[in-house]
Amino acid sequence: MPLFDFVCRACGAEFELLVRGSEKPACPRCQSTDLAKQMSTFSARTGSAAGSGGGKCAGCRGGSCGTCH
Ligand SMILES: [Zn+2]
Repeated sequence: MPLFDFVCRACGAEFELLVRGSEKPACPRCQSTDLAKQMSTFSARTGSAAGSGGGKCAGCRGGSCGTCH
């Protein structure tokens, strides 16, 4: 699922939206389409949610198995 964080350049609202195909995302507050996409916060949030001990998982000690991140 292509879920992205956006910041509206018009009103400053921050929100998440699913973007599919050629759909043009719009601000849910002011309906502006002048949005800044934030890829970095999405990946950082995913990493912090999955990792609880510095990248290691319960199945290994090296942090390099299939379930490690
Ligand atoms: Zn807005």
